[in-house]
Amino acid sequence: MKFTTKLLHGNVGPNAETGATTPPIYQSAAFNHQSAYEMEKIFSGKKPGFVYTRVNNPTIDYFERRMTLLEGGVGSAACSSGMAAISLAVLNIVRNGDEIVSGSGIFGGTYSFFNGLSAYGVKTIYAKENTADCIEKCITDNTRLIFLETIGNPKLDVPDIGAFARLAHEYNIPLMIDNTAATPYLIQPLKHGADIVVHSVSKFINGGGNSIGGIIIDSGHFKWNKEKFAHFGDFAKFGPFCYLAKLRAGLFKDIGSCMAPFNAYLTNIGLDTLSLRMERVCSNADKLAKYLLTCDTIKAVNYPGLPDNPDHEIAKRQFADKYGAILTIRIGTKEKAFALIDNLKYALNAANIGDTKTLVIHPASTIYAADSDEQKMNAGVYDDLIRICVGLEDIEDIEADFKQALSKI
Ligand SMILES: *Cc1c(COP(=O)(O)O)cnc(C)c1O
Repeated sequence: MKFTTKLLHGNVGPNAETGATTPPIYQSAAFNHQSAYEMEKIFSGKKPGFVYTRVNNPTIDYFERRMTLLEGGVGSAACSSGMAAISLAVLNIVRNGDEIVSGSGIFGGTYSFFNGLSAYGVKTIYAKENTADCIEKCITDNTRLIFLETIGNPKLDVPDIGAFARLAHEYNIPLMIDNTAATPYLIQPLKHGADIVVHSVSKFINGGGNSIGGIIIDSGHFKWNKEKFAHFGDFAKFGPFCYLAKLRAGLFKDIGSCMAPFNAYLTNIGLDTLSLRMERVCSNADKLAKYLLTCDTIKAVNYPGLPDNPDHEIAKRQFADKYGAILTIRIGTKEKAFALIDNLKYALNAANIGDTKTLVIHPASTIYAADSDEQKMNAGVYDDLIRICVGLEDIEDIEADFKQALSKI
């Protein structure tokens, strides 16, 4: 079965009870069972079943099964937001005294979370660049996780996932990948050797910008060896489900940031059109990048789809000649960047990515405003940089919008 058919038919079917073709919203806090004996079995994990929505819920389960299949994992856990997914996925692994090696220029919220972990005795070391050399230099005896994004944002660099997976496994360290920007339509990092994938499903997975959510998908492949990961010992009996069993028995239910059933419902509907939307935004972004290259006012265009982009070859190979929806431009000064944003008619000035509509933002004065100049440089955030996340509009209209806005600067 190919990707889009799998997306629509795999692992799930019409509702068994009613035949409903759209998965119903089970907007219920709890689930009743016929006998105390049955309840005991479900609670102890000896029988499948639903108990309480903080733990599991049919609408959320339906979404989890689809994402597990699309990413090629053994299972997943949907969360209230992308940040909830990332924080739970990481905290399920690291403990006081451990270290994380992170790629450079990662999403601002993740960067802030990693820095906050220092209060709990977990140190994050950031690679200077996302090359195997730079990452390897950061690894110490205390490293317990390597974290990277499939497409950096706003740097838009593309790491070679297979190479990083081999490096991580040489040191018996798991590789976690944030696949928000690429989605499983462009790449399934687990198939390239990554161990855990996380997503903000608030973005391209939902696709309509109508709810916040996140998900953790596990490959089931990583060997949680006793020396480095003693706290996984009690869960070794779950075999490939070791990581998820530990997560669900621990932080997932204890912190309680489950996805809302209504958000799972909306995200399930959005997910149906993932392939069509990704096809369209990749094509639109490619055309817009090439158009903007011809505009004199624009000093630089960064898009992995451009042949002279330093990561073009790796992106081409990993993403099967597609390059995502995000591009950045440099326009000379902050004032010009502001003027361009203010003059755009269709492109909305918004902080998210992965909406149906084209979005623009000036990262230096918003998402990265609190960061030092050095942090901004590391993240590739310049004062004259605009991030564009291209939407589903007709490309002629997006180009015309940029043309008219540029003519006013
Ligand atoms: C948005 C985003 C997140 C955080 O997700 P939320 O759903 O906003 O919590 C994490 N990683 C990336 C790459 C993102 O774009």
